[in-house]
Amino acid sequence: MTTPGKLIVLTGPSGVGKGTLVRSLLPRHQNLFLSISATTRQPRPGEVDGQDYFFKTREQFETMIAAGELLEWAEYAGNYYGTPLPPVKTQIQQGNFVILEIEVIGANQVKEIYADALRIFILPPSFEELEQRLRGRGNDPEAAIAKRLVRAKEELAMSHEFDHEIVNDDLETALTELEKVIFS
Ligand code: ADP
Ligand code: 5GP
Repeated sequence: MTTPGKLIVLTGPSGVGKGTLVRSLLPRHQNLFLSISATTRQPRPGEVDGQDYFFKTREQFETMIAAGELLEWAEYAGNYYGTPLPPVKTQIQQGNFVILEIEVIGANQVKEIYADALRIFILPPSFEELEQRLRGRGNDPEAAIAKRLVRAKEELAMSHEFDHEIVNDDLETALTELEKVIFS
């Protein structure tokens, strides 16, 4: 029988660098898979359906909720986001590590189905730096950035509820810490 895999939940405020960390981590570890979420947010320029997200209408998303197809879901800055359950189940049964890059409310729901998931919170070195990163990314309108910053304050207050807290100040240092926590 295959050794069961592991579910890793990476959370933290938008703009903290979760995506950057995951993009660096994936090519280094062949048994690590990133779950592709469903969302009702509009695609950003360059985002591809089925690759960055599964882009859905609100009606389609609500049908997925009703059918129990989501491992977790949450409303964030006016849109739905959620993790399709079947691909996660399959990868874990095959002995792989699956990483979810999600916001805090959803990260808390994961425990209900995967009690032994490893839950990691990524922190910015300061709130000012978080704001700079969000703006520097340059792909969200000002209204969306403002909503994300309001939400970030609430999220940062919950960081201690997670198994590990990692500060993403120097990227390489944060990556090394993340690898230690996941693979030790
Ligand atoms: P998230 O996925 O958490 O929303 P991103 O990975 O998109 O965040 O990162 C937001 C911005 O911050 C990007 O422009 C990224 O290049 C930058 N960034 C990420 N990590 C660092 C870091 N350690 N130092 C400086 N800038 C960073
Ligand atoms: P963005 O719009 O910047 O791509 O994502 C906004 C926020 O939603 C980020 O914090 C991101 O981690 C989170 N997110 C992405 N996918 C999911 C998901 O499947 N579930 C939940 N709960 N949050 C998600």
